[in-house]
Amino acid sequence: MRVKMWGVRGSIPSPGPDTVEFGGNTSCYEVRAGDALIILDGGTGLRLLGQELLKQLPIEAWMFFSHVHWDHIQGFPFFTPAFMRGNTIHMYGGLNVTRTLEETLAGQMDFPSFPVHLSEMGAKMTFQDLYEGEVIAIGPHGDVRVSNARGNHPNGVYAYRIDHGGKSVVYITDSEHYAIVDPKLKKLAMNADLLIFDAMYTPEEYAGEAGGGPKTGWGHATFVAGCELAKAANVKQLVLHHHDPMQTDAMVRDKERRAQALFPNTVAAREGLVIEL
Ligand SMILES: [Zn+2]
Ligand SMILES: [Zn+2]
Repeated sequence: MRVKMWGVRGSIPSPGPDTVEFGGNTSCYEVRAGDALIILDGGTGLRLLGQELLKQLPIEAWMFFSHVHWDHIQGFPFFTPAFMRGNTIHMYGGLNVTRTLEETLAGQMDFPSFPVHLSEMGAKMTFQDLYEGEVIAIGPHGDVRVSNARGNHPNGVYAYRIDHGGKSVVYITDSEHYAIVDPKLKKLAMNADLLIFDAMYTPEEYAGEAGGGPKTGWGHATFVAGCELAKAANVKQLVLHHHDPMQTDAMVRDKERRAQALFPNTVAAREGLVIEL
């Protein structure tokens, strides 16, 4: 398996001189599992992935949305392969809101917010709303297994685990930690080769000691919670994801260094980084 990071920032795109190293695009990961192209979330990083995929047409992609907050869907109207006939995109999201995934994706492109409607995009698209705990087989050969669990986030969120050929990647974004390690997420992440985790805050930021007030109930975790989950679930490598838009490159580097003291095989997500499993 191979994982490439296209968007690692939380909440809102945050370009500028202070975010050059880690990047300012919002959530999007490309996972290659055998012959399967899997896309995790459609934040603004998806636009860049789309440009890369133009060299590999036609594409068939399996796309999983953690949830439909803007920073996880905003890149979709700018995903060029979705406008092109001959491409196929299978889309999955959690059944956790009053609207289906298709209705929500169409909603962000409704008049007058966007000039082209979802139904006018040329690619063949399918939508599947997932139930918690549902395990599905995907990919051109049906040999990739995707399981899920619900996390702790306003309006709900799904975490995903991808298994293929004895390797595994777990993607847990936008999920606030509890006083104990979440047993459901621990089970989902158990013995994974790679855990990508929402490590938006430092403990000081979360507690409000860094200014801006406490972040309890906002639906995001600290890097300490990520390290605790990684240890409890016996994962091999941890990726700190969903950096706060207020965090400069120096702050993310510091967060990474502090996390490595707790769980040595940790890296802060950065745009363009590739991890081979
Ligand atoms: Zn988010
Ligand atoms: Zn969210």
